[in-house]
Amino acid sequence: MAKTGEDLFKNIVSHCKEYGFIFQSSEIYDGLAAVYDYGQYGSTLKNNIRDFWMRSMVQVNENIVGIDSAIFMHPTTWKASGHVDAFNDPLIDNKDSKKRYRADVLIEDHIAKIEGKIDKEVAKAAKRFGDSFDRDQFIATNTRVLEYHNKIIEIQNSMRTSLDSGDLEALRQLILDLEIVCPVSGSRNWTEVRQFNLMFSTQMGSVSEDSNTLYLRPETAQGIFVNFLNVQKTGRMKIPFGIAQTGKAFRNEIVARQFIFRMREFEQMEMQFFVKPGTELDWYQFWKDKRMAWHRALGFKAGKHRYHDHIKLAHYANAACDIEFEFPFGFKELEGIHSRTDFDLKAHEKYSGKKLQYFDPELNESYVPYVVETSIGLDRMFLAILSDAYAEEQLEDGSERVVLNLPAFLSPVKVAVLPLIKKDGLPEKARELMDNLKYDHLCQYDEKDSIGKRYRRQDAIGTPFCITVDHQTLEDGTVTIRYRDNMNQERIASSNVNDIVKEKVSISKALQQL
Ligand code: ATP
Repeated sequence: MAKTGEDLFKNIVSHCKEYGFIFQSSEIYDGLAAVYDYGQYGSTLKNNIRDFWMRSMVQVNENIVGIDSAIFMHPTTWKASGHVDAFNDPLIDNKDSKKRYRADVLIEDHIAKIEGKIDKEVAKAAKRFGDSFDRDQFIATNTRVLEYHNKIIEIQNSMRTSLDSGDLEALRQLILDLEIVCPVSGSRNWTEVRQFNLMFSTQMGSVSEDSNTLYLRPETAQGIFVNFLNVQKTGRMKIPFGIAQTGKAFRNEIVARQFIFRMREFEQMEMQFFVKPGTELDWYQFWKDKRMAWHRALGFKAGKHRYHDHIKLAHYANAACDIEFEFPFGFKELEGIHSRTDFDLKAHEKYSGKKLQYFDPELNESYVPYVVETSIGLDRMFLAILSDAYAEEQLEDGSERVVLNLPAFLSPVKVAVLPLIKKDGLPEKARELMDNLKYDHLCQYDEKDSIGKRYRRQDAIGTPFCITVDHQTLEDGTVTIRYRDNMNQERIASSNVNDIVKEKVSISKALQQL
C-alpha cells in the first residue's frame, strides 16, 4: 500500500541522504540544527529549479530584470524595513526540560489535538451510521463536536488578541489555562514569554570600538528596494516593471523542524513588481493567477495546491495570500504574494533622506510606486517537487522500485549510458556516445552491476533516459533507449539519441507552457 504522511516523509528524507541529494550540515560533528547541505544531485536539481524560476521571470517577461544584491546591507536598512523592531517570535522556556518553544506554536499544537478529537468523533459516527452517514450534518449538529469547535475558536481569538496587542503575559496565561505541558518533561513549569528577534547579527570591522553590528539578511526583498532607482535609471525601465533575485536568507527560527521546510539558512526567489498607485490590486490578482499557473505547469498531481488568503494583514500590506502545497505533513505555505503598497520605498526614503520616486512621462509627474511581491522559498519548492516526484512502485514481476518522476528538464542527470557488459568493445562504444552527449547534457556512465540494478539506480535519482549499448550496436549502430516513467524500451539509431533527449529535456518547451 502507498505510504502517506509521516512514513512517506521519513522515507523521502532518508532517500535524500542515501542518494546524494541532501545531507545534514557538518554531519561528522553531529550536525547543525536546521542547516542542510545539498549533495551532488540535490545541488543540480536546486540549480535547475532556480534557473527555471529566474528564466520564467526575466526571460519570458520583457519588463522584469534580475539582480544579485549582497547578503550584508547597511544596518539602517533593517530599521527602515521594520525588521529590527518587529521581526519577532514569542518564546517560552520549560524550566524542567530547559527546552525552548514558540508560544504560539504550543497553542497551535494544542488546537491540533482538539481537531484530532473531532476527527475521532467523526470516524466513530461514520462507522456507526455506515452508508447513511452525512459528515457535514454530523459536524454541524453533534453537541460534542460543536463544543470542541467553539473551544478552538475561543482559543484562536484569545491568541490573536494577545499577539496583536503584544500582551505576552496574556499569552502565557492562555498556555497555563489550557494546561499545556512540555512535550519533553511533561511539566507545566513555564518561564515568562519573551520576544525574540529572528535576525542573526554579526560584526563588521576589525577593532571592536569602531565595528558595526550587521545583520544577515532575513529576506532578499530589501536588496531590491534599495536598488530600485539604480535599476530603473540604468535599465530605462518603465512602470510597470519588476526586479527579481534569488539568494540566501537567514532566520534564527525557534521551531526549526520538518527537514528543509524550515531552515535557519535558506534561499529565496523574490520578485518585486513596481506599479502605479491605484493599480496594485489588479496587479496583485494578476500575479496571484500567474504564480499558481507556474506551479501547475510543472505537472504536479491534481489538488496539490490551494490559496490561503490572509484576513489579518501585515502593517505594510493591503492584500496578501499564500500558495499552499500539500507536503507529506499537510498543506503548508510554499509561496507568498503580497501587495506591499509603498511602505518599503517610503520607509527607505525617510531613513536615507534620498528620493525613491519614479517620473511617469505619461502623467508628467513623480510618485513613489506601489509594489506587488512574489516570494517563494527555493528549498520549499525543492521539497514540494521532490515529494511529489517520489514514488515507491510495486512492479508486475513482484519487485519494487523507488523512482523520482521529476519533470525531465529539472532532473539532475538527463541521460545514463550503459554498456550491457564490460567487454567486447561495448564500453568503448558507450564512451563514444557519452562524448557525443556530454556537451549538451549532464550524463552518467555506468558499467557496474546488472543492467536491472543500474536502471534502478537511475530511477532513484530521477534520470529520465537510459541508453544501453549492446552487441547489436556494434553491428548496426542502434541502441536501446529506456524511459524512466513507463519503463518502455525502444531500439533507435544511436545518432538520434541526442536529438530525442534534447527535445524532451528542453527548458524552452517548459517556459512556453507557462
Ligand atoms: P512561515 O509562516 O512558514 O514562517 P513566512 O510567512 O515567514 O513563512 P515569508 O517571510 O513570506 O515567510 O517568506 C517567503 C517565503 O520564504 C516563504 O513562503 C517560504 O517559502 C520561504 N521561507 C520563509 N522562511 C523559511 C525558512 N525558515 N526555511 C525555508 N524557507 C523559508
